[in-house]
Amino acid sequence: MPDSPRRGSITIIGAGLAGALLATLLSRRGWRVEVFERRGDPRLSGYAGGRSINLALAERGLHALQQAAADEAVMRHAVMMRGRMVHPLAGGAELQRYGRDDSEVIWSISRADLNLELIDAAEAEGAVLHFDRRLEEVDFDACTMRIVGDGHDEWRPFTTLIGADGAGSALRAQMARVVDIGERTDWLDHGYKELEIPPGPHGSFRIEPNALHIWPRDHYMCIALPNEERTFTVTLFLPHEGPWPSFATVPDGAAAVGLFERRFPDALPLIPMLEDDFDRNPTGMLGTLTLRRWHLDGRAVLLGDAAHAMVPFHGQGMNCAFEDCVALASHLDAAPDFATAYAAFAAQRMPDAAAIQHMALENYIEMRDRVDDADYRLQRALELR
Ligand code: FAD
Repeated sequence: MPDSPRRGSITIIGAGLAGALLATLLSRRGWRVEVFERRGDPRLSGYAGGRSINLALAERGLHALQQAAADEAVMRHAVMMRGRMVHPLAGGAELQRYGRDDSEVIWSISRADLNLELIDAAEAEGAVLHFDRRLEEVDFDACTMRIVGDGHDEWRPFTTLIGADGAGSALRAQMARVVDIGERTDWLDHGYKELEIPPGPHGSFRIEPNALHIWPRDHYMCIALPNEERTFTVTLFLPHEGPWPSFATVPDGAAAVGLFERRFPDALPLIPMLEDDFDRNPTGMLGTLTLRRWHLDGRAVLLGDAAHAMVPFHGQGMNCAFEDCVALASHLDAAPDFATAYAAFAAQRMPDAAAIQHMALENYIEMRDRVDDADYRLQRALELR
């Protein structure tokens, strides 16, 4: 059985955003933390992120970074976004502020920079990270796990496992073999494609840097977030199927140029490599994952995307994962054993995650359909007075 939580040993699966932050928080509190990460060490092999080049960091996420004393290092890479810059089809972009002034803003941060800073922070606090090592199988009766990668294949003992291994969590799959976790994924019928606005001719931003840009077009949209190196990552969200435009009717870069000529004419000249970007980058899938159980007594618990992946339209998946880390660390401080800590953690965070997942789905309709509506703009202006 798991030992007492105080200063015991904890194994985290995944050194992504949540795994690296949690390793930092727990190491600072005196836990012996080991982390197993499927990918190579990004400091040696370059970052192999896979999806969403940058992310919107909000107050909830920033608060968690402060708890880990990682905020200063991370915020050196962040670009402030003080509101939405809405680009209607007719032209005439307009900034809708998030708050009355710059005390209420969100931040754009590169996933790679953020992950690298958090990995450095975790190691600096004493966590031991193993890269190129993926969780393959778990024997929950014997409390052993099979770790595979880069020519290694071994069974190792563990005290307790925390799954921060993302939406396709291997730990979740292993838990589902021994207990009914009530897993359900609702796939969105829209996907996404990433494109890039490079820096301008003199190395400057080509459009307003301190904003989250939105091109709402009723049942689809484009957004763009600024990067430290003066580029923007553009994300085109389209239905997978259906009448024009959808990924079925816009299957390649040439068709995407046609779509931009007609529907995003002001964005087209900003994306000189649009055709190549569209052909080269994969079409991403989006979904909402729900579980009835997040933990297996004191032997395993899930957090972040492994427990509650969500669609990205509220920009809260990572922020919510970071909040999970703070909550779990404080339950581990307070509880007499892992099982009690995990049960209290799940009881606190499951309703929060469900509410944020719901808001994320609703916000897609608001972003693509309502932000350029005159009544909506008037209401927002009144709210901010
Ligand atoms: P991940 O970041 O997926 O990390 C999981 C880690 O586990 C990875 O390093 C992976 O390699 C590792 N791993 C996987 N399997 C194994 C294994 N078997 N063994 C060992 N290691 C393993 N959120 C926001 O807050 N703001 C945004 O603006 C935002 N924009 C987004 C845009 C898009 C297009 C998408 C798809 C998501 C966006 N999100 C955003 C959500 C955010 O990306 C996730 O919520 C966040 O990455 C979750 O962090 P995580 O650590 O739980 O999972």
